[in-house]
Amino acid sequence: MELFIIKRDGKKESFSVGKIKNAIAKAFLSVGSFATQEVITNILSRVSITNETTVEDIQNQVEIALMAERYYAVAKSYMLYRQKHAEDREVTEKLKFLIDYCDAQNAATGSKFDANANVENKNMATLIGELPKSNFIRLNRRMLTDKLKDMYGKEVSDRYINLLNEHFIYKNDETSLANYCASITMYPWLIGGTTSIGGNSKAPTNLKSFCGGFINMVFMVSSMLSGACATPEFLMYMNYFIGLEFGEDYYLHADKIVDSSKKQRALDKVITDYFEQIVYSINQPTGARNFQAVFWNISYYDKYYFESLFENFVFPNESKPDWNSLNWLQKRFMKWFNMERTRSVLTFPVETMALLTENGEPKDKEYGDFTAEMYAEGHSFFTYMSDNADSLSSCCRLRNEIQDNGFSYTLGAGGVSTGSKSVLTINLNRCIQHAARNSMPYQFYLDEIVDLVHKVQLAYNENLKNMKAKGMLPLFDAGYINMGRQYLTIGVNGLVEAAEFLGIEISDNPRYENFVQQILGIVEDYNKRYRTKDVMFNCEMIPAENVGVKHAKWDREAGYMVKRDCYNSYFYIVEDESLNIIDKFRLHGHKYIEHLTGGSALHLNLEEHLSKEQYKQLLRVATQEGCNYFTFNIPNTVCNDCGHINKRKLNECPSCKSKNLDYLTRIIGYMKRVSNFSQPRQKEAAQRHYAPVCQL
Ligand SMILES: [Zn+2]
Repeated sequence: MELFIIKRDGKKESFSVGKIKNAIAKAFLSVGSFATQEVITNILSRVSITNETTVEDIQNQVEIALMAERYYAVAKSYMLYRQKHAEDREVTEKLKFLIDYCDAQNAATGSKFDANANVENKNMATLIGELPKSNFIRLNRRMLTDKLKDMYGKEVSDRYINLLNEHFIYKNDETSLANYCASITMYPWLIGGTTSIGGNSKAPTNLKSFCGGFINMVFMVSSMLSGACATPEFLMYMNYFIGLEFGEDYYLHADKIVDSSKKQRALDKVITDYFEQIVYSINQPTGARNFQAVFWNISYYDKYYFESLFENFVFPNESKPDWNSLNWLQKRFMKWFNMERTRSVLTFPVETMALLTENGEPKDKEYGDFTAEMYAEGHSFFTYMSDNADSLSSCCRLRNEIQDNGFSYTLGAGGVSTGSKSVLTINLNRCIQHAARNSMPYQFYLDEIVDLVHKVQLAYNENLKNMKAKGMLPLFDAGYINMGRQYLTIGVNGLVEAAEFLGIEISDNPRYENFVQQILGIVEDYNKRYRTKDVMFNCEMIPAENVGVKHAKWDREAGYMVKRDCYNSYFYIVEDESLNIIDKFRLHGHKYIEHLTGGSALHLNLEEHLSKEQYKQLLRVATQEGCNYFTFNIPNTVCNDCGHINKRKLNECPSCKSKNLDYLTRIIGYMKRVSNFSQPRQKEAAQRHYAPVCQL
């Protein structure tokens, strides 16, 4: 029988003993020695080759054989030769990647690993960010497996790598060393400036130093996170500094001229100029983040949320946050931002409106109305609704304790001083189909997987604590975030696809409801089991911008049933035209999201904007269905020729009549030009169903 060996690129080649002999002879020559036929035969007698042995394995055996035959100098030379070739191969690979990246259609498509979320351009800076990604992945895996071996033994560590390689699980943000995302309290900065996190700016003392310092602080904090940075206190602090300068009742005379320069600006203009400075600065590509903009989130609160979160808060001058002025400032910012977005493509901040509900309605009528008004004016933002204001976790200085139903957004803003240290995602579709293939009850199989991902997350946590002990994590030390209040997040992907495989209809029906409750219930059960006073877990249906596409591709290649090119990030099928608007709220309502402690946002895609009354009606629907986190997406039009931006989806530029148009919509969490989506995501975006308004 002819023997085949497996080359490094995975290809088969018929085995030739001559090649090994040649390599051994060369190794002897390289140290000024000569290998006789007999010597070579002795060495070869120690090498065993079976069909499909890898080149790597043969070389390992030759190395050991040289040592066993006591040709130490030759063995050393042989190892060095291998090492050099390994390095050459790595450089060749990187070079090939570099060329492919330069030729790719856009930055998201060119990225091989974990395309950076909010990179708009493809250039030298983004390329520099891409190149070390594979090394980071290897390093992160090594650090995790070393710790897993320490804590749980080699079997668990091997199982983890095996599940990763077989795509049963996916480690998010493996290309970065930093912990994932955080909602920070800015209090340490307010008191002491940036020195405690390694900066040199003093505490802000006036409106100008607040606004300038805020931008720098957000850049610094973001450079130490791999994901989003939420500043839920942003407007509250800004309000304080405006009050210090212009009086707490400044909003009552916003049209007053307060600028002594030639410009003679009114107070309102002074304030919106600061908005402009902050928002445009933070939307800039950032050097320290390989040309990614900072992923910045903010929150708005109704009166009840505000009181619940900040009633015990005290500013450095002993004053308390003032609701009346903050109320004005929040609305002013939202209106300004909505208007500004017709001038320029502004992705950040991602905004969340927090509303308390009572008896099926927003309790703060004024804010319920205002929220509907902003949606009707075409603004795009998230709304978080809860019947308990404590379900937004808050800053460590405040009284609010994170409840069992503690909420941490990895997508949008919310909560003070919380977030997610690390996300590890389970590919439910593959797990459930694999169990079925092997005639296992999928519950048992999932039990094992869910248990393992908790162990991996605990190992991650130990590594993070070590980093902190070495002084590498000043955000924690300085109190911007808190180790115990950050979650370890178990992500899920492919839930809808797994249900489809089991023959369950994806609609609000008892079978689907039971399935969702059961699957997410298993995760929730382990989240509670592994919870200690220092460690908390939550479960999130991850946005899966990139991995939704990857899972579908990998699973299809492995012969599993895969119905679409990108796994859903919702409880319904995004291209399903049979579901109406109410159905979608129900499918993201309390029955389905009960165990999703880390949040899931409903993205309701609409063909066109609704009226204020219609949005008010939908807020009521959301409350009644228990859908606590949602947004509406209506694609905006951008003219590629004249730059005109329109809040509606149009086929022709209303300004210059051009048909060369691009559209803005949420890829998942944030708005982006569709042309900057990765190619597979562009395909998915084209299939999204936008509900016609006649459904209401
Ligand atoms: Zn135009």
